[in-house]
Amino acid sequence: MKVVLAKHSGFCFGVQKAIEKAFQEMDNSKSRGEDIYSLGPLIHNNQVVEDLQSRGLILSDTVDEIESGSVIIRSHGVPKQIYTDIKNKDLQLVDTTCPFVKRIQKIVDQYHRDHYTIVIVGSATHPEVIGINGWCGHDGYVIQSPEDIHRIPSDRPLCVVSQTTMPIPLFENVVAALKKQHTNIKVFNTICLATQDRQEAALELSQQVDAMIVIGGRHSSNTQKLVELCRRILPNDTYAIEHSVDLDQFSLENYSVVGITAGASTPNYIIKEVMNKIEKSYRSNKQIAIDGPAGAGKSTIAKKLAKETGFLYIDTGAMYRALTLKILEKNVNLYDQAELQQLLNETKIDIRNDQIILDGNLVEEEIRTAEVTSNVSKVAALRDVRNKLVEMQQQIASNNDVVMDGRDIGTVVLPNADLKVFLTASVDERAKRRYAELKESSQSKITLEEIKRTIQSRDYEDENREINPLIPASDSVHIDTTKLTIEEVVQKIKSLFEKV
Ligand code: SF4
Repeated sequence: MKVVLAKHSGFCFGVQKAIEKAFQEMDNSKSRGEDIYSLGPLIHNNQVVEDLQSRGLILSDTVDEIESGSVIIRSHGVPKQIYTDIKNKDLQLVDTTCPFVKRIQKIVDQYHRDHYTIVIVGSATHPEVIGINGWCGHDGYVIQSPEDIHRIPSDRPLCVVSQTTMPIPLFENVVAALKKQHTNIKVFNTICLATQDRQEAALELSQQVDAMIVIGGRHSSNTQKLVELCRRILPNDTYAIEHSVDLDQFSLENYSVVGITAGASTPNYIIKEVMNKIEKSYRSNKQIAIDGPAGAGKSTIAKKLAKETGFLYIDTGAMYRALTLKILEKNVNLYDQAELQQLLNETKIDIRNDQIILDGNLVEEEIRTAEVTSNVSKVAALRDVRNKLVEMQQQIASNNDVVMDGRDIGTVVLPNADLKVFLTASVDERAKRRYAELKESSQSKITLEEIKRTIQSRDYEDENREINPLIPASDSVHIDTTKLTIEEVVQKIKSLFEKV
């Protein structure tokens, strides 16, 4: 069975940032010996909420109940009055309102002051909508279908916004109906791209698989919308689950290809747990993961092994290079999270016939320039980039028999690989190999001693980096290549693979 993860799934940009900020502020409050509260659950996911509570976050329904400390405003946002209440009580504000929701609040605030009638297309009981309506003194009209528009008065111009999770066709239908009755109307399509991306990717994937699994909280509206969309295509073969234990309630045995998607408040670790469990029980394609420090011969060996086994070689380094190339071409500011996220959402990297394809174009030569080389490590160090690339690598691996090499393949990218190999070699040997390579291409006057020092410091950085450090998987086979030829290592891995 193949397991395919939707192109877009899980934590959206807004929730990811909110959770990161919450954890950071919880640490700060703890070190100051102060309490920290959140106004309602931070996200619609019971496990994450319980985790946050066990670390000291206190849930509160209103500011009235809070006497001192910090108050977190969640990504859904809150009415304007809450900001005043927090200020009046001299509480510390931690605002994790998603920038996309903040934009809607600003529009509503501005147009309300300009005497427009505010129309919010959304669910009146949803906290985000309650929050938005609180930026026009709760005078806005919340409607959910074209049938509701008769409630809207025509004495003033209209300003129409949408709850971020509304389906686009519904919003368009409501706007079309409003335009027939009102001439002075300002429309802002404030539907979030994260939601749209997840919905489109879920629909697209549903059409390519035999069954869909939708992971997310029962109370998460965007998760329930994904369920509804998948059921349109696969009415009897869409399964809604909250976590991996729910997989025990049904069997996937009769399916050849299973698709996975997840709501915007589902953390990556839950998606991983589900994928791991399915993979362990049902996966049929083969995976060989090769990890090890720089200069251990990983890529040469992985390429040769892929050729001899007929597997697809996934050059993870080349994928990071391709992304770096696009970042340079588009002149993206790496430290502007929204800009970077937008680029990541719009990027597709694939591998065909050992060639790297960026957004449909072959870029094998372009990714080897000096400019890409000098920027790639900076790009690869970013958490959002690593998360995205890991997702893409897993997706390719879910469709093919693969050999993949890197530094966290067995631990992070393919934790259920059929065979995990950790290649090592002494620092002296690795330095000698690198020196010979450079000498052959007469690229540099660097000395052997300098290369040795570089390798030692690279090893230290790789082993101690915060995101996905180089640690051998506990079930990996270690092969010291110091005294072995490439051919010997390849044959050794092949014979290990034959035994799994
Ligand atoms: S779904 Fe969109 S609007 Fe809502 S928190 Fe996520 S990124 Fe922000």
